[in-house]
Amino acid sequence: MRFGNVNLHLVSDGVYWEDGGGLFGLVPKALWERVAAPDERNRLKFEMRSLLIESAEQRILVDTGYGDKLTDKERGFVSLEGERRLLDSLAKLGIGPLDVDLVINTHLHGDHCGGNTGYDENGELVPTFPWATYCVQRLELADATFPNERTQATYRRENFEPLAKAGQLRVLSGDTRLTDEVRVVVTPGHTRAHQCVVVESGGQTALFLGDLASWPIHIERLSWVPAYDVEPLVSIETKRNLARWAVENHVLLIFEHHPEIGAGYLHATERPERFRLEPHGF
Ligand SMILES: [Zn+2]
Repeated sequence: MRFGNVNLHLVSDGVYWEDGGGLFGLVPKALWERVAAPDERNRLKFEMRSLLIESAEQRILVDTGYGDKLTDKERGFVSLEGERRLLDSLAKLGIGPLDVDLVINTHLHGDHCGGNTGYDENGELVPTFPWATYCVQRLELADATFPNERTQATYRRENFEPLAKAGQLRVLSGDTRLTDEVRVVVTPGHTRAHQCVVVESGGQTALFLGDLASWPIHIERLSWVPAYDVEPLVSIETKRNLARWAVENHVLLIFEHHPEIGAGYLHATERPERFRLEPHGF
């Protein structure tokens, strides 16, 4: 999709399946199963959609999926199939690992940064994109480096430590402009320093939501907050602010995890806490 002076592409690290209760937290199943029918193990299908932003100077990749480092047992648990899914998706656009200049991680949960690194032919852990600078929030890196009992399963050192070792990690402290068209904004709630990516060019604005709103329903209904969010009440306020901003500025919202809807425009409804997404394909 042409977007002002840049091209936006949706690429994919494939799909996985995870418990529906996790995605909807306190929302009763009787309500959420009207939005999405779970499989026989009560699981829902998740897309791992990454955003590739191509400008004249740079190729920027936002999030890298699970990658290929999970054990067979871990893969079985989330029904993840296939190898090199994201790399193949990028290759279809003619983009190889050497062509990516910047990688932005919305946060360091395993399904967002697993593809940051991989094993080389000698079995060494190395950055997947050898020439890229990887951008992570300082507080997110701290939380990932020193996880607690609740967060340790999803924060895996092998996804970010090799970046620092290779000198390819750029640690951001708060909202940061990365290029003329691309900036990150800290959007706390899912994690304390989750960041969303804003693309602005030619009078148009797009927002990659990461897990601030994994699916459209999470921003359409502010009270629908995943059980994964570490600060659920903060999530609601962050979503409220971004939803209002997106409606007022006709912002194209991009969703990382919904199996079908990749993007859309948000509209207000008669109820202040509810919004409606108009899907927009690209
Ligand atoms: Zn996620």
